Amino acid sequence: MRVGIGHDTHRLEPGRPLILGGIRVEHPRGLAGHSDADVVLHALTDALLGAAGLGDIGDLFPDTDPNYLNADSRIFLRAALEQLHKAGWTVNNIDVIIFAQEPKLGPLKAGIRASLAVLLGLPLDCVNVKAKTGERVGHIGRAEAIACQVVVLIDQSRE
Ligand code: MG
Repeated sequence: MRVGIGHDTHRLEPGRPLILGGIRVEHPRGLAGHSDADVVLHALTDALLGAAGLGDIGDLFPDTDPNYLNADSRIFLRAALEQLHKAGWTVNNIDVIIFAQEPKLGPLKAGIRASLAVLLGLPLDCVNVKAKTGERVGHIGRAEAIACQVVVLIDQSRE
């Protein structure tokens, strides 16, 4: 078994869609980035790659590559999963913390959790999503950015 950790931060800006964990969220501002800036999927992808010793999301999908301009981040996650599966790893469980002052994440957590479970092909109880505000301090607390941390456990079971 191996563990991996992922972290990401993206700025909130007007005129961008807000996508969290593969879910489109209605909000006046969205996350800025080269791709769709789904901070949750970026942190998750990095956690998976890290657990398997496969580098990071920037190695696989450079943000200077025009192919990934406004790209759906589910592409990154699926590619990382494929690499893990090829190397004989399966995902055991993930634990996710999303840091956002805005929007209120409480009502969104269940939908994000369900989306991540589908993307990973895991039962719901293997996917946990927690939400934190920034307590109105720092870049999270001033609602300038959203961040995400993910821990994963992967398993190389001989089947
Ligand atoms: Mg990112």
